[in-house]
Amino acid sequence: MIDCGFSIKETEARLLRLGLEASQIDAILVTHEHQDHAAGVAKLSAKYQIPVVMTYGTMKAIDTPAQKPLAGLLEDGLLNIMDSHSAFEIADLNIQPFPVPHDAREPVQFTLSNGAAKLGVLTDTGSITPHIQTCLSDCHGLVLECNHDLNMLQGGPYPNSLKNRVGGRWGHLDNQTSAQLLAAIYHTDLQFIVAAHISAQNNTPQLAQQALSMAINAQAEDILVADQMTGLAWCSLTN
Ligand SMILES: [Zn+2]
Ligand SMILES: [Zn+2]
Repeated sequence: MIDCGFSIKETEARLLRLGLEASQIDAILVTHEHQDHAAGVAKLSAKYQIPVVMTYGTMKAIDTPAQKPLAGLLEDGLLNIMDSHSAFEIADLNIQPFPVPHDAREPVQFTLSNGAAKLGVLTDTGSITPHIQTCLSDCHGLVLECNHDLNMLQGGPYPNSLKNRVGGRWGHLDNQTSAQLLAAIYHTDLQFIVAAHISAQNNTPQLAQQALSMAINAQAEDILVADQMTGLAWCSLTN
């Protein structure tokens, strides 16, 4: 599992929709400390004794002198620190973290490979670095942040400070930047593309699908959407 921003109850319900149970999870990989990614991690890990992996910076941002939600996991030996550039193995998967420019302490995103098929996941990045592009260049499935449409963000209800944060280089990817990345890394062995981390205020699934599909001369409905309420149906990569 990558990240857990939900309560235990909500997480269990969402797993059940996919025919899964939390007890089947081998590990929780945490990308960064923001609540929509980390709020449920410690509780889920404690309940099911699931190992957790995060960067040192993420750990220091979650566990502060005032609040230590990770203390129990440390005691149980469930907390593991990853280096943001070093690959590691979990079950039969090779996990490659890579750093992203985002306003968190030491944020990463991941590619996951079983040796034959590789999934790339990229959310919560304000811009694309050459290293991100290299890491995602040979994936067979992609989950790409399409956080906002630039026009909707600019004309939307957010105060200026938040507009600047979200739209800035350490904020979130807009549809067009995500589409440019996709155009740069697209190849014919790509089995699916999922638009994710879509803002309810500043974007629509249709705009995200439109932007990504136009970048690769595909139909809008060829782009899958992970929305906030229903998530995404189970998707498999074939080797
Ligand atoms: Zn986020
Ligand atoms: Zn974030």
